[in-house]
Amino acid sequence: MTGSVTVVGLGPGDPRYLTPAAAAALDAAQDLVGYVPYVARVPERPGLVRHASDNRVEVDRARHALELAAAGRRVAVVSGGDPGVFAMAAAVFEALEAGDPAWRALPITVEPGITAMLAAAARAGAPLGGDFCAISLSDNLKPWEVITARLSAVLVADLVVALYNPISRARPWQLGAALALAAEHRAPDTPVILARAVGRPDETIRVLPLAEAGAAEADMATLVMIGASATRLIPREGQAPFVYTPRSVAR
Ligand code: SAH
Repeated sequence: MTGSVTVVGLGPGDPRYLTPAAAAALDAAQDLVGYVPYVARVPERPGLVRHASDNRVEVDRARHALELAAAGRRVAVVSGGDPGVFAMAAAVFEALEAGDPAWRALPITVEPGITAMLAAAARAGAPLGGDFCAISLSDNLKPWEVITARLSAVLVADLVVALYNPISRARPWQLGAALALAAEHRAPDTPVILARAVGRPDETIRVLPLAEAGAAEADMATLVMIGASATRLIPREGQAPFVYTPRSVAR
């Protein structure tokens, strides 16, 4: 039998946010490859071999998946959220490009998932109603100067900015620096959404004015979204405000 690789997005956490197509790919898999917590999200069953690995070995992990498929196995590579957003799909294609040319004949598919930015936006209201962008604040794979240059450019362009990988034990100061940069371009009352563990039992969503949003409010399970100049709040009695960005921009 011919092997295959399907790169599967598991969504933000709640199993109801896993697409039926992604669930079918997981059901069909013989081998499950991914970062430990994502592999752990897929229930064990007889006949499913699990290959859980550490966070920092994405391309090695992707190569392993391609080797398994080339040996005839049906492999599912799993990522949280969407596998194409700061995740395993790019690592699989990087390994494919650099690897054995015979691998290019393998059936390789990507099954999308709901990315953290979209899940967080839905909880807050409609902050992505206008133009927006997503930036990973992790400087493990790119220089910090590139991150700040891109962030400055999109702040000048007045886009809503979703920040992935805002902070970690090894990267404690980057989010504070990014918020300070945002404060140079945006008003102090600009809404900042801090969406933590969306779709998981410990989910918290907070909306703070930019002037009060600090790095202490986030951890590595948090998606941080900085509003554009048009992003607005609809306050509600006793409840969190809605946050939205109107679709129209004055001519
Ligand atoms: N492929 C994933 C993103 C991987 S990068 C996706 O599409 O969502 C990891 C970062 O994603 C985390 O540091 C955090 O910023 C964000 N993230 C992932 N899952 C999240 C969740 N359930 N709630 C909030 N943020 C999340």
